[in-house]
Amino acid sequence: MPTMKDGDVLGHEFMGEVVELGKDVKKLKKGDRVVVPFTIACGNCDYCDDHKYSLCDNSNPNEELCRENLGHSISGLFGFSHMLGGFSGGQAEYVRIPYADFGPIKVPDSLSDEQSLFLSDIFPTGYMGAENADIKQGDTVAIWGCGPVGQFAIQSAWMLGAKRVIAIDVIKERLDMAEKHSKAEVIRTVDADEVYAKLMEMTGGKGPDCCIDAVGAEAHGTEGFKKDLDKAQPHALAQIFKSCKKGGNVSIPGVYVGEVDGLPMGMAMNKSLNLKMGQTHMQHYLDPLLKKVEEGKIDPSFIITHRMKLSEAPEAYKKFRNKEDGCVKVVLTP
Ligand SMILES: [Zn+2]
Repeated sequence: MPTMKDGDVLGHEFMGEVVELGKDVKKLKKGDRVVVPFTIACGNCDYCDDHKYSLCDNSNPNEELCRENLGHSISGLFGFSHMLGGFSGGQAEYVRIPYADFGPIKVPDSLSDEQSLFLSDIFPTGYMGAENADIKQGDTVAIWGCGPVGQFAIQSAWMLGAKRVIAIDVIKERLDMAEKHSKAEVIRTVDADEVYAKLMEMTGGKGPDCCIDAVGAEAHGTEGFKKDLDKAQPHALAQIFKSCKKGGNVSIPGVYVGEVDGLPMGMAMNKSLNLKMGQTHMQHYLDPLLKKVEEGKIDPSFIITHRMKLSEAPEAYKKFRNKEDGCVKVVLTP
């Protein structure tokens, strides 16, 4: 991530117990067990009124830096860059939560930590990714990337009425999870020509109705903002523009930061593709998705492959980056 510094505390997906309250906090009390969404929002600006919480006007103290890079300032995010507020994240014993009355939700006793934790990012992010694809009853949905967000996008596509879900990746554990747990059809290659040929074959030459890019720029490895991100080839997005049906829907929950070369805009324009994207408007999804977990429609803990201690975080990052030992998702506890 650009604009990060040595000593920054990472972690934008966390939960915990309330141990202290600021004087203006009304809705929480000490001892509450809460999940904290990674977007920080004031709850009072025009964007928050419109439920576009990740675009909040008031929660990013480094708005100048953000404006320099994006043209406008978006909301603050936990454990991300200084451009997005420089807020310390949740891979720590204690975390300070701004706007604490508008974000954290109490977790009912009936749910375990592991069942609730992923309401903090990947479940809502996968769900908004599927919602942004405007899935209609009976649609065929193709999802590039079977990491944690991709897995929740698959689950969400079913919830929103997809008839077929096709998942694309090369990593065995992720594809196995997509196929066995989430009942997706899978394509085991990321070679552009093979993916296109396979999708055409599977859809009778029409292409998927809805395509979701759950890969983003991160997949290419990043060593700095300008240097590498700008040069990163948007493989998934280029494949999506080529494979999506004419007039189809493209949703991008995958994170992009800089510019992308080689994006075939001509395909998207001439095929009348519809594009939607964005950081997740977390607060919009917390209550309805918590309800789905409570009703047993989904148990988000299926994604966890590793449980480690906070002190083992460097090892956990290494495992995840290198996709070692079947690592899809690590949970850290103090
Ligand atoms: Zn706001």
